[in-house]
Amino acid sequence: MRRVAIAGAGLAGLTVAQELRRLGYDGEISMIGAERHRPYRRPPLSKEYLLDDTADLALAGADELSATWLLGHPATGLDLVGRRVRRGALPPVAFDALVIATGVRARTLPGAGELRGVVTLRGLDDALALRAALAGRPRVVVAGAGFLGSEVAATLRALDLPVTLVEPDRVPLRRPLGER
Ligand SMILES: Cc1cc2nc3c(=O)[nH]c(=O)nc-3n(C[C@H](O)[C@H](O)[C@H](O)COP(=O)(O)OP(=O)(O)OC[C@H]3O[C@@H](n4cnc5c(N)ncnc54)[C@H](O)[C@@H]3O)c2cc1C
Repeated sequence: MRRVAIAGAGLAGLTVAQELRRLGYDGEISMIGAERHRPYRRPPLSKEYLLDDTADLALAGADELSATWLLGHPATGLDLVGRRVRRGALPPVAFDALVIATGVRARTLPGAGELRGVVTLRGLDDALALRAALAGRPRVVVAGAGFLGSEVAATLRALDLPVTLVEPDRVPLRRPLGER
């Protein structure tokens, strides 16, 4: 095995690549990432990064990894006979082994795509868009009182912004934490 392709340049993709190197694999590693960024820490995006753009997002070892970084364009399909990952009109990436580590995507609401001032929070670019919107000191509605929604609501309250949290359950985080 001389060519490993990893689709998804997030925490899981990075960790697989680091582990391969640690185990002595010295062939090619192609990191295919839809985002334009090398892997970074997402947890601060709903917390301190909204308050402080110097908050540390670095993931240890991401910059030192010996790999070919193919960022800013998603993998769009597979040619399993030719063993290649398609990337739209860009040249495909040949592999002996492929890891799919494409993570999850934020769900949106019907009509959200047509409105200004609506953001989902999943990646760094989302957090940058949210931070830019906060500069106008908006009234904010947070849809979903899970961990991320509750964290964002708490962070925005720390900025003294008016926040309405919309959630079908009786209290935030009831399933993981209970009623009280
Ligand atoms: C705002 C926020 C805060 C969080 N806070 C915490 C926390 O406090 N504690 C905690 O334990 N967890 C937290 N999490 C969850 C944690 O970040 C995830 O568990 C982790 O990111 C999962 O890593 P992953 O590599 O599997 O997926 P992801 O991080 O989603 O990475 C997948 C990558 O694949 C890329 N991708 C998707 N499709 C394609 C494609 N077709 N081709 C190429 N690339 C593609 C995506 O753009 C993404 O960069 C948080 C998540 C978010 C969004």
